[in-house]
Amino acid sequence: MELRLYDTLTREKRPFVPLDPRNVRMYVCGPTVYDFAHIGNARPVIVFDVLFRLLRHAYGEAHVKYVRNITDVDDKINDRAARDFPGLPLNEAIRKVTEETGKQFHADVDALGCLRPSVEPRATEHIAEMREIIEKLIAGGFAYAAEDHVLFSPQAMNAANAGLPRYGALSNRSLDEMVAGARVDVAPYKKGNTDFVLWKPSKPGEPSWPSPAGINAEGRPGWHIECSAMAWKHLGEHFDIHGGGIDLVFPHHENEVAQTCCAFHQERMANYWMHNGFLQVESEKMSKSLGNFITIHELLEDWPGEVLRLNMLKTHYRSPIDWTLKSVEESARTLDDWYRVAADVVPGEPAASVVEPLLDDLNTPLAIAALHGLRGEAAALAGSLRLLGFLSESAAQWESRKQRASGVDAAEVERLLAERTAARARKDFKESDRIRDLLAGMGVAIKDSKDGTTWEVAR
Ligand code: AMP
Ligand code: ZN
Repeated sequence: MELRLYDTLTREKRPFVPLDPRNVRMYVCGPTVYDFAHIGNARPVIVFDVLFRLLRHAYGEAHVKYVRNITDVDDKINDRAARDFPGLPLNEAIRKVTEETGKQFHADVDALGCLRPSVEPRATEHIAEMREIIEKLIAGGFAYAAEDHVLFSPQAMNAANAGLPRYGALSNRSLDEMVAGARVDVAPYKKGNTDFVLWKPSKPGEPSWPSPAGINAEGRPGWHIECSAMAWKHLGEHFDIHGGGIDLVFPHHENEVAQTCCAFHQERMANYWMHNGFLQVESEKMSKSLGNFITIHELLEDWPGEVLRLNMLKTHYRSPIDWTLKSVEESARTLDDWYRVAADVVPGEPAASVVEPLLDDLNTPLAIAALHGLRGEAAALAGSLRLLGFLSESAAQWESRKQRASGVDAAEVERLLAERTAARARKDFKESDRIRDLLAGMGVAIKDSKDGTTWEVAR
């Protein structure tokens, strides 16, 4: 069983060799908790859940550690807290916002069939580690304090060049070009125009902590240092996989690598960098102003989470995905079928035809094509679907949820079916056809067989 993964840093697909097969370690950038998560946010969560499951399958459940952080220090959180709870002290308001949105995020991603990561660290609980990394960076000459800020200098990093990666390597950018192209109105305390913030002063009322670097004023961390600190604390200085959406490659991940590698004097932070492509809706960029912004929460009112999960996995994780209603409807019909065939059978081993494409850089579209070919082998279909995080319900639960969602009254359907059976028994075919049409009008499809009549809600 050989797993191959595409690495954004080296821009190639390589065999995955863990640093320690008894402790395979993955970090994925998690949500900033200030609002309902949208369906684009669901993409990295689902994609890396599939990878987590595949790694557990390959190396054993006890040997994979998955860390996904929760960013709970952020301007957007502060703004939301001030707006929603104007009567409360800001810190309390912030706690309310992050607790509520954090809970909502869990409810959403649980419904999408995602396992909880092994650890979900919160940024606010890792301030000491952030300060420690910042002190190391200052001691190494990669960072400096100025006007109550601490800044990281990419130019100092590339000048040092001693067993460190090149700043810009991950995002395939040249630092010289970044310097030449940088804005002219750079903050006056920055020595270089590409220097980025590790620590900054807090405004009055904002969350604040004792500062590093002998700065008297209290302050708060920049965003990038949060992930370096949480990854370090839970996975060590060097680990296997780091993931997130493609938008995070620059500057977030480029800066994470810079901080971690310079603090610990090493060439690598993660051995494989994985990034999911972006999601758009009905061929348009999703945005609040276009009115096509859809939250996971809203979608879950109309569809079971597994339908959304399948719809996400029909596209390879590195390709852009166009989220359409038509495709979701099709995914729902596919799952109806699979539930009927496989939900109630004892699952067998996942089929090789499904596992092999997954091992090839998570080729889920090919794995799903193989699932369609397994309808005649219910046990293998069931085992394969479970590996991918499907079939959390019984066939009956699935069908009754569909009935509730469609507003069909099962007792009323049963009563009409009994009337129809009676009509057929007395050979009143006009009446039995009338009842069948009536049911069809209610969205109910019936099937007669020698064992009697069954029915289901048609999609
Ligand atoms: P954010 O809360 O914006 O920091 O995003 C959390 C995660 O969702 C990050 O990994 C982003 O890359 C990812 N993400 C945000 N928007 C999209 C989108 N439209 N398509 C795919 N991934 C996204
Ligand atoms: Zn991050």
